Amino acid sequence: MCNECYSDNPRITPLLKGEQCLKNHTQYICPTCGRCICIDRDDKRGVYRWNFPFKTLEIAKLYLRTAEVVCNDVCGIYEITGKNNRISYKIFHDKKDLEKYLSKNKDKICKQMSPVYISKQYIENPNAGIRKLRDDEVKKYLQEQKDLCEI
Ligand SMILES: [Zn+2]
Ligand SMILES: [Zn+2]
Repeated sequence: MCNECYSDNPRITPLLKGEQCLKNHTQYICPTCGRCICIDRDDKRGVYRWNFPFKTLEIAKLYLRTAEVVCNDVCGIYEITGKNNRISYKIFHDKKDLEKYLSKNKDKICKQMSPVYISKQYIENPNAGIRKLRDDEVKKYLQEQKDLCEI
C-alpha cells in the first residue's frame, strides 16, 4: 500500500469517467506512486469530491488523502446509516464536522460516532502536485490505468 495515498493500486482512480475527470478537474498527484486523485471543488456548492458519500470504506480511503491535504490535518472516515439501513462512508475533518452534518441530515445517523478509519498523522509533502494534467499526461495516465487493469 502507498503510505502517502493509502492505495495499493497506483492507477485505480478516477473510478468513473476517467478521461473527463483528468482533463477537466484539478488532481492531487501522489509524489510517491503517481496516483491522481480528484481534488476539484464544485464552486457552486462549495464541495469537494471527498465530501460526497462513498459506497465502501475502501473507496473512501482512495480519497482520504485529498481531504487531509485540504484540511492540512488527519481526517476520519465515518460509517453513516441512512434510510432503510443503507450504509455509506463519509470523510470528515473531525467530530464537530460530523455532528454538523448529522444535525442537517436528520435521516442519517452515525452509530459509532468515531472514525472507522483514520491515519496516525498527517505529513505534508511539498513534492505533491496539485494541478490539472496536460493532454499528454492524461493520455499516458489512461494508458497506464488500462494496462494495470488488464493484468
Ligand atoms: Zn474529477
Ligand atoms: Zn500514492
